[in-house]
Parts: sequence; structure tokens; C-alpha cells
Amino acid sequence: MTAKELAAKIAGQIQGTCKSLVYYLDEHPEIDMDDLEDALLDEGIEKCKGCGWWFEVCELCPLGDDDEPGYCDQCREDGRGKA
Ligand SMILES: [Zn+2]
Repeated sequence: MTAKELAAKIAGQIQGTCKSLVYYLDEHPEIDMDDLEDALLDEGIEKCKGCGWWFEVCELCPLGDDDEPGYCDQCREDGRGKA
């Protein structure tokens, strides 16, 4: 299985969770963590840099000019992700 195939399979499972990719990589040792994260991005799923939960990429977009991309709303409220 390729990283892309695995990403397509698990994207719906991990969205809205804080599941670790390690669990899947254990089952598919041929896949590289970075490749899988890239492939998940292609599927529109990204991990929040603050809390580690998986969100749709559009949910992690900055709302204001001083917001850093890659954080969810909750983390922004907590003051993380501010430039
Ligand atoms: Zn977050």
C-alpha cells in the first residue's frame, strides 16, 4: 500500500480525533510518516500544531493577519498560534 492509498483510507477515520499515525504506520511499515502526512494534506486533513487533533485543512486557516496557520480555533482562543 502507498502513503496515498492509506491516507485516502484513514482520512475519514482520523478527522475530529487526536489519533496518532503511529498506529497505522505500525501496520504499514513500508510507509514513511512524512509521506503519510503529505498525503493526508492532499486529502484535505491536517493536524493542528497546537493540540494535535486532525481537522479539515480549511479549519486551520488563519482568520486574522496576526494568526499563524496550522492551528484550530480552540488553540487560537488559548493564545497559541499568535505571531
Ligand atoms: Zn488545536
